[in-house]
Amino acid sequence: MSLLLLVDLDGVVYRGSEPVPGVAAVLADRAARGDDVVYVTNNSMHYRADYVTRLRAMGAPITPETVVSSARATALHLVNHESGVRRVLVLGASGLERELRDVGLEVVTAGHAATRMHQEGIDGWAAAGAPDAVVTGLDPNLTYLRLAAASDCVRAGARFIATNRDPVYPTERGLRPGAGSVAAAVEAASGITPMSIGKPSPHLLELAAEAVGRDARDAVMIGDGVGTDLAAARAVGARCVFMLTGVGTRAEVEALPPAERPTAIAADAEELATILDGLTDRP
Ligand SMILES: [Mg+2]
Repeated sequence: MSLLLLVDLDGVVYRGSEPVPGVAAVLADRAARGDDVVYVTNNSMHYRADYVTRLRAMGAPITPETVVSSARATALHLVNHESGVRRVLVLGASGLERELRDVGLEVVTAGHAATRMHQEGIDGWAAAGAPDAVVTGLDPNLTYLRLAAASDCVRAGARFIATNRDPVYPTERGLRPGAGSVAAAVEAASGITPMSIGKPSPHLLELAAEAVGRDARDAVMIGDGVGTDLAAARAVGARCVFMLTGVGTRAEVEALPPAERPTAIAADAEELATILDGLTDRP
């Protein structure tokens, strides 16, 4: 029987711009043998086509349906699990706007609402046209009025959904504020706590499994983060192969109480392949 593999990207398939040696080939082999391979990333800034191009170049099995970023997952959540959401105010990057439009939602950008607030002297709720929901992600062009627009809408009753709550985002120039910092600013200004889709909450993994018609409880999460990948796997009751190819360390995992440790630890692609050979489709 085939496995459902939910695979984190940064620190597992690649590290920054460099592929992690052998992992794409292991995943290609598993897909050729019938496994479902779905990529799950908290990144909220990119459109699916960007990942398809990049992962195909590395030899990893991928289609636009098998990469579920927190942006894509938020779009799927809004259309499949919330009722009555049509218009959405987006405080985030262009890839997030595109994912939301792709599922048929009417997107108002926080930038557009901010311009109207400034020019017409109206509040963010009116400027955004009374949206049903506010979605936050990493907005690389964040301004005070964009933040005001999102906060006004949440205060006026729009549902508040955060793509993820990662406080920081690693870049080549060091840590920068992440999508979680943007969500936290809106939370502070509105007094409302958002629902968060990304890891460590269970929603991203559930929506990724649903995208290929499977159950997240039967999945094997392959990830490198204790507070994200491993925590999300535990939240849905899935198994987890913890990769030492990214940010997490063996010492960090071994310091966890036994009940919170991953199913297995893999130092590299070869160990990952051996571990997967020993797993069955249901835990
Ligand atoms: Mg990672």
